[in-house]
Amino acid sequence: MTVTRKWFCSCSGSPRELNTEKQVEEEEAAEPFCPQCGATPSSDPRKTISYRDAETWDD
Ligand SMILES: [Zn+2]
Repeated sequence: MTVTRKWFCSCSGSPRELNTEKQVEEEEAAEPFCPQCGATPSSDPRKTISYRDAETWDD
């Protein structure tokens, strides 16, 4: 089972799915980033970021 966390930002009125960049550098946490308002899960002053975990069962 793989859990994929999908991130959304609702700054534009409706939840917009964010792309999670692949991990680039080990030192930097890979965080989704909203291109519209610049929010990330750890920097979300307007509380527009939300997420949903989607479980996929591949075998
Ligand atoms: Zn946003």
